Amino acid sequence: MRLRTIELRTSARMEVRLITADVETALSEIGFVEGLCTILVPHTTAAISINENADPDVRLDVTRALAALVPDVPFHHAEGNADAHLLSTLIGVSLTVPYRGRLLLGRWQGIYFVELDGPRAREVQVWVP
Ligand code: ZN
Repeated sequence: MRLRTIELRTSARMEVRLITADVETALSEIGFVEGLCTILVPHTTAAISINENADPDVRLDVTRALAALVPDVPFHHAEGNADAHLLSTLIGVSLTVPYRGRLLLGRWQGIYFVELDGPRAREVQVWVP
């Protein structure tokens, strides 16, 4: 397995950032030609997702809607970021995407890094066989 790590710094507590080009650059630097790549966010208060990349308002709408999804329950987790852990679980922290010279995403799709408890320094791992 070969690995390339993308480093990024988020700028808000909740933020959805398009990282499709970063992932494609990582795959190109690895020299990957064709196959499935795995993209992992090794954090418990962040996530990764595929969604529309055409209209930036979608990313803002997703952020607002995610915040509204958090239930009004008394969390026990003393760190104060239980909402971020919950949303990370719901969204997920890894993707598997086919690649053949480029990521074989749908026309309107992009890869989103989802920050849920920023701002922080973050990593995204790109693995290939
Ligand atoms: Zn925590």
